[in-house]
Amino acid sequence: MSTLFTKIINGEIPGTIVYEDDHVVAFKDIVPFAPVHIIIVTRSEISGIAALPETGDHIYLLNAAKKIAEQQGVTNGYRLVINQGEDGGQTVEHLHVHLLGGRPLAWPPG
Ligand code: AMP
Repeated sequence: MSTLFTKIINGEIPGTIVYEDDHVVAFKDIVPFAPVHIIIVTRSEISGIAALPETGDHIYLLNAAKKIAEQQGVTNGYRLVINQGEDGGQTVEHLHVHLLGGRPLAWPPG
């Protein structure tokens, strides 16, 4: 069965896609925590950091994040977050990076 994010990638459920290439797809988070909150997801269904293969689509995530940050105009800074597992707050088991920006972000996170 496909993950929620694969269904967005395939257009089976709606999503506002802002970037895509051969390896990753990015869309707006449905519950944004910041003026810019983008989910950048691997096309392949890697369940998370704990299941990371040696190589694959995930190696393109950071370069995509840089491009998307430029595209979104978050010139004053931004944060990239990957949640892993229950304690990490992961709710969708399909590897993704949150790109957050557009306001000052508190540190440390809760
Ligand atoms: P995480 O908790 O790190 O696994 O992140 C999952 C993210 O996916 C959350 O920030 C959700 O708001 C977001 N999300 C869940 N469903 C959708 C959806 N249909 N479209 C866009 N983002 C979603």
